[in-house]
Amino acid sequence: MSDQPSRISESKAPRVPRKLVTKRLKLAVPSGLTGHPRLSRVLRLELELQEAKKRLDDMTRLAYLDEMSGLANRRAFDDELRRTIDRATRYAMPAAVAIFDIDRFKAINDLYGHRAGDAVIVAVAQCLRTHVRASDFIARTGGDEFAVILSNIDLEDARQKVEALREAFRRIEYNFATEPVQVSVSVGVSAIEAGFGQCPLHEADLAMYRQKRASRTIYTLG
Ligand code: GH3
Ligand code: MG
Repeated sequence: MSDQPSRISESKAPRVPRKLVTKRLKLAVPSGLTGHPRLSRVLRLELELQEAKKRLDDMTRLAYLDEMSGLANRRAFDDELRRTIDRATRYAMPAAVAIFDIDRFKAINDLYGHRAGDAVIVAVAQCLRTHVRASDFIARTGGDEFAVILSNIDLEDARQKVEALREAFRRIEYNFATEPVQVSVSVGVSAIEAGFGQCPLHEADLAMYRQKRASRTIYTLG
């Protein structure tokens, strides 16, 4: 057996196209070395690794995203709610969770079509983004249901905040052809605080349905 170091012959070595090396990896490789057989192999592996990491990042992002609204989805919301409940319990950091459900959304779909329904969902998402702090967490948790985790807030301030949001939803101007489509949203809110026995999401949900039942009799579309 030879004790010479093994060599990969130039012809067998996988070659990394120079364009890829300089454009995508942006490694500081002296130009004379990019064709070196071992370096080429390392660079190709590095390139494959970077691409695999990017694919994984993209898949993870999509798994937590609601594509239509661009908001976090239900899975991301559940994770964030768990973390918020943990923080509230360990560090006594008060927070609140609010649930929003569009009233008679099915009627909007039936009267104006699904594209109009989709546009209303996007408008509600945009309204939430505009009126909620960047440090809060917004998600589309179901077809016509949204949820917001409000950080560092007591229940009274959270109530005022969601009332202001309901007003903002009423001001959404969406016209189907020339006909204005009025958007009404029912809201429920619950505190997330240390020692809180109930599931705050369930409490918020119950409160939201109470509001929906109460306002149903005065609800009108258009
Ligand atoms: P309520 O006032 O009790 O909230 O009634 P609703 O009509 O808003 O609620 P319901 O749960 O009966 O219907 C929600 C509808 O939302 C049913 C479903 O077809 C529709 N929907 C769910 N996801 C989407 C979507 O992405 N786009 C559109 N256009 N419609 C959707
Ligand atoms: Mg609804």
